[in-house]
Amino acid sequence: MKKILLLSTGGTIAAVHGADGLVPALQAEDLIAMVPELAGICEVECRSILNLDSTNMHPEDWKFIATSIMDELGAYDGIVVSHGTDTMAFTSSMLSFMLTNIDKSVVLTGSQVPLVEPGSDGRRNILDAFSVAATGRPGVFVVFNGKIIRGCRAVKVHSARLDAFSSVNQSEAGRVEGSNVVFRQPAELPVSPRHLDIRMDERVFLLKLVPGIDASIIDFIREKGYKGLVIEGFGAGGVPNSRQDLLDAIRRSVDAGVAVCITTQCLYDGCDIGIYDVGIAAGKAGAVSTFDMTPEAVVTKLMWVLGHSHDPAEVQRMMLEDYCGEIDPGYRTRLSALVREISDGDRA
Ligand code: ASP
Repeated sequence: MKKILLLSTGGTIAAVHGADGLVPALQAEDLIAMVPELAGICEVECRSILNLDSTNMHPEDWKFIATSIMDELGAYDGIVVSHGTDTMAFTSSMLSFMLTNIDKSVVLTGSQVPLVEPGSDGRRNILDAFSVAATGRPGVFVVFNGKIIRGCRAVKVHSARLDAFSSVNQSEAGRVEGSNVVFRQPAELPVSPRHLDIRMDERVFLLKLVPGIDASIIDFIREKGYKGLVIEGFGAGGVPNSRQDLLDAIRRSVDAGVAVCITTQCLYDGCDIGIYDVGIAAGKAGAVSTFDMTPEAVVTKLMWVLGHSHDPAEVQRMMLEDYCGEIDPGYRTRLSALVREISDGDRA
């Protein structure tokens, strides 16, 4: 029988009703005790490493979780991490970068309803997560409501529904159907031995554009010492160019050594700043397009990349390199094919 370790970190799955609302309180042993069917899947060991509402999770916690996983992985066939859903996509993205060449399954899960409540989705999610971990499929995954999603592609899309996560800009890695784990993507085997790489620089800011935004915010972010700025532009990655001030502020930041990346406010299809003049102008000001990466992946990747280099050319090279399936090197071709397909469909 496979041996799987649960590392619990808190979240709704571990929450109870306290005087001031839901707070994580259950320990890893409590979670395991409440899902006795696990004994039919694998041998289980567990450890509580944090007990946080994931809203309170900080970059230092990602390092701690990654280190805890790597310390234990050799002794187990896989690891399940129970985690709050609200920032799970940030953690799963960052773990995907930090757990380099991972050769076993690391599976994050949680629930929308506390495990102590009747009808909680936590029971199913825990069972599914252990079933996936026991397959040994290499990689970091989020398993939730039957979906198996690559860690760097997960986005929380519902704040209340049980189907909380989507796999964004990549098909799901698979599904758990009853007690069967069905992968829909081929396994990707690591090319070299696994290692922990927790170097990062958390001085990254995510700025969502609104019409009429004051360009001095970009200067303020730079003056506060941020080394990376991710701008959520409009649509395909547009940044207003009818006023020169935003572009000038981007250029000032780039010239001062800030890595400026553009993502999109649209959940699906990604961005390419090479399409419209409102994107090309941002590119000329020194911003980099992030194509089909999720905003969670862009932010955590930029922190991780800046932990390795602050050289602008190297940062740009690393941002566009695919480390764990977070970016599709053929994105532009795929996007053109999609646009053609849509216009052919409209004409038909
Ligand atoms: N606020 C909770 C958390 O992220 C929500 C959840 O777990 O579903 O920890």
